[in-house]
Amino acid sequence: MNAVLVVNSGSSSIKYQVIEEGSGARLAQGLVERIAERGAGRVVHTGSHGETIVDGDIPDHAAGFAAIVERFAETGTPIESLGIVAVGHRVVHGGSEFIAPTLIDDEVAERILELAELAPLHNPGHHAAIIAARAVFPELPHVAVFDTAFHQTMPEKAYTYAIDRELAAEHGIRRYGFHGISHSIVSRRAAQHLGRPLDSLKQIVLHLGNGASMCAIDGGRSVDTSMGLTPLEGLVMGTRSGNIDAGAIFHLLRRGVSVDEVDRELNKRSGFLGMTGTIDFRDVRAAAAAGDAAAQLAIEVYVHRARHYLGAYLAVLEGADTIVFTAGLGENGPDLRALICAGFEWCGLRLDPARNDARDSGTRVISAEGSQITVLVVPTDEEAEIAKQSTALVASLAE
Ligand code: ADP
Repeated sequence: MNAVLVVNSGSSSIKYQVIEEGSGARLAQGLVERIAERGAGRVVHTGSHGETIVDGDIPDHAAGFAAIVERFAETGTPIESLGIVAVGHRVVHGGSEFIAPTLIDDEVAERILELAELAPLHNPGHHAAIIAARAVFPELPHVAVFDTAFHQTMPEKAYTYAIDRELAAEHGIRRYGFHGISHSIVSRRAAQHLGRPLDSLKQIVLHLGNGASMCAIDGGRSVDTSMGLTPLEGLVMGTRSGNIDAGAIFHLLRRGVSVDEVDRELNKRSGFLGMTGTIDFRDVRAAAAAGDAAAQLAIEVYVHRARHYLGAYLAVLEGADTIVFTAGLGENGPDLRALICAGFEWCGLRLDPARNDARDSGTRVISAEGSQITVLVVPTDEEAEIAKQSTALVASLAE
């Protein structure tokens, strides 16, 4: 039995899953949270013996991994007994150089830290977890799987910002795109579900979670995506503004708002939160239904923006075979899906209202019989994709 330990870490948390190769079964999973917060650390671990919760200080990521290993041992399934053959680390930003899953050595770990310049909220936490995990599991290969890698196939015209070329080159300013692990697995699963070769399909994927992005995929390759240099560009999100005139930033700076405050405003206090006071779409939806005008407007802004990109990607791809909804809102928001798809009948897109409204959690078609574009809901599974890419790399290195 072979398994992969998949690690998705932030600056103060480590999410982990042990996934069996082939079957994709979860052998264990858990979350270490509030790292470095005195008196607040917690490990929630679910293994073969159910869920356990342990509270206690976790000063850093090294202590976090020690706590994970201890949880496995104390719940009767030592981590060594699970047949782990690789550790797969999710890394948000791989810049222009990491275009595929990469075996982590000291140099790669250092580059991931240096790329924190482009992803200050994400890469430092990944780096800390990589260092700690390599110390705890020195005998295992560690693989970095990048959210940006899938989009490295974008043509230059899609990733170039129209600014001074030297300035762009000096500071690495270009569009990278994110959620690539999700866009990749979801587009592949859509093709499998339809029984059609991936390389024959033009697909538009809407990953609508707390973070949200859309991707135009031609024959399995990303050709355009809505996030840019950072995950701030594009769609309206839980707490991010998505597209905004860069001039608004200068305006705020000139009016005395500090750089860090503007950053926080646009990344952490905008989107649904900024427009309505609540992040979760379920609350926004309930408020809108109760007549709250701000919540109603927020949904209209959200849908309007997504429709902009849908129209844009129909142009980029010169039509589409599939439109795929995924992630929290994409999988659970039939109302949003209907609003986003409405009025696209002119290009052969027709939803089936009963299929769209059906309560179902699996991969499914929600367009009408005979709709020229097939619309699907495909649950995302980034951890399974990280496990798959990690084992594929390790196997190829062993050959
Ligand atoms: P993340 O980007 O954090 O991985 P998810 O993909 O899990 O986010 O999406 C989380 C969001 O999905 C929630 O904030 C909520 O707005 C939305 N969501 C989750 N479940 C539902 C549901 N049943 N109905 C509507 N929206 C939902």
